[in-house]
Amino acid sequence: MPKIYRLPKQLADLIAAGEVVERPASVVKELLENSIDAGAQKVTVEIRHGGVTYIRVTDDGCGIAREDIRNAFVSHATSKIKIESDLDAIATLGFRGEALASAAAVARVEVMTRTPEDTIGTHYCIEGGEEVLLDDAGCPLGTTIIVRDLFYNTPARMKFLKKDVTEANAVAGVADRIALSHPEVSIRMIREDKETLLTAGDGKLDSAIYAVFGREFLSELLPVDYTCDGIGVKGYISKPIAARPNRSMQFFFLNGRYIKTGTGSAALSEGYKHAIMVGKFPACVLNITVPNHAVDVNVHPAKIEVRFANEKPIFNAIYYGVKNALEGDRSKAHPKMQNPSQAAVRNFYALAGEEKPKQVEFRELPQKKEDFFVHTKDVSAWKAPAPAVKETVPKKEYTMAAPEPEIAASDDFSFLAEKAVREPEKQPEPEITPVPKEKEPQKPAIPEFRVIGEAFRTYIFVESENKIWIIDKHAAHERILYEQLRAGEDGKASQMLLAPVTVTLRKEEYAAILENRDLLADSGFAVEDFGTGTIAVSECRIVQDAADAKEAIEEFAAYLCKSRQELLSRKMDWIYHNTACRAAIKAGNFTSEYEQQKFVEKLLSMPDIRTCPHGRPVMIEMTRREMEKSFGRI
Ligand code: ADP
Ligand code: MG
Repeated sequence: MPKIYRLPKQLADLIAAGEVVERPASVVKELLENSIDAGAQKVTVEIRHGGVTYIRVTDDGCGIAREDIRNAFVSHATSKIKIESDLDAIATLGFRGEALASAAAVARVEVMTRTPEDTIGTHYCIEGGEEVLLDDAGCPLGTTIIVRDLFYNTPARMKFLKKDVTEANAVAGVADRIALSHPEVSIRMIREDKETLLTAGDGKLDSAIYAVFGREFLSELLPVDYTCDGIGVKGYISKPIAARPNRSMQFFFLNGRYIKTGTGSAALSEGYKHAIMVGKFPACVLNITVPNHAVDVNVHPAKIEVRFANEKPIFNAIYYGVKNALEGDRSKAHPKMQNPSQAAVRNFYALAGEEKPKQVEFRELPQKKEDFFVHTKDVSAWKAPAPAVKETVPKKEYTMAAPEPEIAASDDFSFLAEKAVREPEKQPEPEITPVPKEKEPQKPAIPEFRVIGEAFRTYIFVESENKIWIIDKHAAHERILYEQLRAGEDGKASQMLLAPVTVTLRKEEYAAILENRDLLADSGFAVEDFGTGTIAVSECRIVQDAADAKEAIEEFAAYLCKSRQELLSRKMDWIYHNTACRAAIKAGNFTSEYEQQKFVEKLLSMPDIRTCPHGRPVMIEMTRREMEKSFGRI
């Protein structure tokens, strides 16, 4: 049991200054780190009211000797470093000698501790920095520290605390990270009288991951074990199919300390290059081991940011570690990812008043389009009959002054528009036909139009009276879906998932989803608590692919976690946007002529829609006059 010394002033001055006690989670982090440094094998954290009124951390570590107890609460007193050169190679989690002093200054702290050398333990109480009690205590080996009424004497700081549940989530996040970084220590967390975490402490990272994030998350991981230039990278990374929309499930530890590292994230992403889609991020739990002298942890008071003597070897070790792990992975093929627009295709059907085909094959080739129209007898009837105009279009570009036939369009598309509106009602399925019928009477008169075709699989060109509309397919579809969500239109767009989808999240995000269950329900997502940081999604509106539902929940979680202070209406709006955007047909997706026709019809029936929810225009208009002017005809 090492002795606690006051650091000489010049050494104390070298230590990164800053407040470490900001909220219950920061106290818990410091106390847990002390327990780990004390060689504990079992640590229990208990909190009440989010840790604001009560935090207790009990360990079976080396204990604090009676003659050292006062020093432990003196600022810059520590048993972990003695001289300046110790700062160059810090092997413990703590070294600043400030945490206990800072906590005792702003709370009521009680300690029960006994070292193996002593038969009688020590009971010590200190409140607002003032010693209240120092006495004998019969207590087990190790240390129990209770921190009560945090910030009771500093109301200004108290104001910065969030709701108890938010503070508790942050504490749970800290406990999770300590558990992941020290699988050799059994960590138990009791939150408002309920055990929420218990790790085995068997030294196996996978069992710690299992305890923290559950079986599902663990099953999506690949092991990494790589050493290069004295730098070790060990842990787990997610399989490419389990990629996520953000980096919130990336956990890097350096010599057993949780850190934030841009180098680590960059190396990880580079390792996955071409293995996952752009805009997706892998998850990881990676412990990097470097010689202690190669890293400076004395950069940030909370020691979350560290500085490497040389970033390059760290990058390389992670990069190659990841590459090797992926190489060994047999489950690389993931055709599902190449076809993310199934839901969007089905949403198109929903718009057209069609029942969603159960197994829509997404086909690239237009000649196979009949497979799409399971409810349409004669597809050819829907073709835009305008080959002559289409064919002349490219030529026009090169013969500026060529006398063009007037586009005597109205004959053509009036016929087409007629058909487009009426024909679907003749379809055979009795349960489908009423849907468009019900809506038909309220529809405002749609101007006559003719779909010219689609450019770049992105823009639908429409001719109507004396103008051309160019419609951004994705933006327009997104806007329509957004309006439907806002109006609370369920109907055919609402969808039960075949099997519930489970999503594992970090504790703060997990809690954010559960807290906002009603909000999500309003947006058509039925979510349930599945335990151990896992959410089950049983129902969702519009978004209907399991992978898509999962990704939506991950994005919502990250957003809801960040924007607790936002107005409810703004959160709602964000969720509608997000849902509409992911559910809309993508630019680049093939859309048949029939779909284009139905889509334009729908769009024109909603005259208010001119911008997508992001504010981009949905369609632009070019009048015949403008065109003729451009061509110097008038
Ligand atoms: P630091 O961890 O940076 O040294 P702290 O203020 O956190 O500073 O703790 C001061 C000292 O108290 C530590 O150096 C350590 O000797 C002792 N100490 C704190 N917590 C424990 C514990 N749970 N078990 C044993 N010793 C402890
Ligand atoms: Mg400490």
